[in-house]
Amino acid sequence: MTPSMKTGQDALPDRLVTGLSKIGLAMKSRTWRRQGRRGVGPLQVQVLTFLRSRRNQAATVSTIARELSVKLPTASEVIRTLEEKRLVRRLRREVDNRIVMVHLTAKGAKAGRVVNGWPEVLAAATQQLSTQEQVGLLTALVKLIRALQVQGEIPVARMCVSCEHFRPHAHPDEDQPHHCEFFNTPFGDRALRLDCPEYVATSATRAQKA
Ligand code: SF4
Repeated sequence: MTPSMKTGQDALPDRLVTGLSKIGLAMKSRTWRRQGRRGVGPLQVQVLTFLRSRRNQAATVSTIARELSVKLPTASEVIRTLEEKRLVRRLRREVDNRIVMVHLTAKGAKAGRVVNGWPEVLAAATQQLSTQEQVGLLTALVKLIRALQVQGEIPVARMCVSCEHFRPHAHPDEDQPHHCEFFNTPFGDRALRLDCPEYVATSATRAQKA
């Protein structure tokens, strides 16, 4: 008999899933409340959030479709709706006018920030954890996200562990054992990124090893 059975509690993985579900539910209901008030649907919010995370706040339609794990016509339809609301605008690239880029407008950036106000709330809650707990949580999240990616359940996240520039355990320094070739700097687990604009996808074998 396992300790959890003796105490009548669910097994640890089950309780972790319950905890994650509660956070997910709280995030969803908050986002829905805000979206409902603003008239912006979930997929539209994801596009605005994705564009906000980009260095130039722009992306091609196919990149957006890939990021959201939706088909091209679906992405095009969402972008058309956002354009009608003046939250994004489509422009041809100056260097190659065959390529159309979707740009976030100032109104879109503001709408994305308002309906998606979770980062500040979550950041405040996360600050209740000790530094060690924060690092442990980040490491666990990276592993969870990676496992879900491998299962095809979530789109590619721009994380260090699946990045071409990532060199894990390249340095003897225990605090900063990893190396980023893009920034040419050592870093530790606490600096692992989950959404880096400089991310370049590496091979599946190398990502699995990392
Ligand atoms: S480029 Fe970004 S994602 Fe890639 S290793 Fe460096 S910090 Fe991590």
